[in-house]
Amino acid sequence: MSGRFAPSPTAALHLGNLRTAVLAWLFARSTGRPFLLRVEDLDTLRVSAGGDVARQQLADLHALGLDFDVDVVWQSERREAYAAAIEGLDTYECFCTRREIADAPSAPHADGYRPYTGACLRLTAARRAQLASTRRPALRVRAGGERFTVDDVLAGKVTGEVDDFVLVRNDGVPAYNLAVVVDDLAMGVDQVVRGDDLLSSSPRQAWLAARLGGRPPGYAHVPLALNRDGVRLAKRDGAVTLADLATLGMDAGRVLALLARSLGLAAPAERVTLQQLLERFDPLQLPRHPWVVDPSDYSDAEVNRMSIT
Ligand code: GLU
Repeated sequence: MSGRFAPSPTAALHLGNLRTAVLAWLFARSTGRPFLLRVEDLDTLRVSAGGDVARQQLADLHALGLDFDVDVVWQSERREAYAAAIEGLDTYECFCTRREIADAPSAPHADGYRPYTGACLRLTAARRAQLASTRRPALRVRAGGERFTVDDVLAGKVTGEVDDFVLVRNDGVPAYNLAVVVDDLAMGVDQVVRGDDLLSSSPRQAWLAARLGGRPPGYAHVPLALNRDGVRLAKRDGAVTLADLATLGMDAGRVLALLARSLGLAAPAERVTLQQLLERFDPLQLPRHPWVVDPSDYSDAEVNRMSIT
């Protein structure tokens, strides 16, 4: 059984993504698991730069010293597996637009997600035919609001309602919630380490894994990196990618040191190796709050401090 990192190749990895990757590697290696890499490129297929971004992401992960077992899995090459998984599920077509779902009388979850209330199950044949002539349907799985509980190393037991979520979008692209589950099962992933923005999706995904005859993985949803305004870190927040940081004189080793310090695994200005981090790593001691990234904290100061060590 394995651990994995599964970036979407939409932009260069920033410090928050790199920190999650280091954590996923530490979780896997500290438990003797192979560590796998999957490129979640279903959405970026039409963007011709998607492949280049992915290759740069892989290069950045290698520059930090992270190593992966087995070949990289590209979701864009796995459409048959997603289609096969759908065959065995109880599904139905949904013609609802985003607007109609947003206007439906369902209470949004804490993260803003609106559970689907099954409007398309109640269509008359005439209305269905009318909609089918003007809109392409999405495909939903029939889950009927079942509740499902997952185990998370940091969050404990998390129970969520499983609505009739989308398996295939109305543009024909397999939905993230389907692809991630089919792939984790196929790759033997039993340890999912990722940003805690995805915690609320995990009961849905674990339910689907069980429905597909698999065993849901264990989870570790780790705190995100935020910018100074408390908003999820993004590339526009300054020097936050390896390429940006290199222009400040911070090589990958210094970036690893910065990440290690943010995790409480290194002293200020201490250079560390991944092997040392592995020896120090204790999941239960990890920070439980987001990491606030302020490039002015590390840029000059970091370079000055570290160049004298
Ligand atoms: N591809 C997703 C992302 O980059 C992560 C999916 C996952 O780890 O389950 O946010």
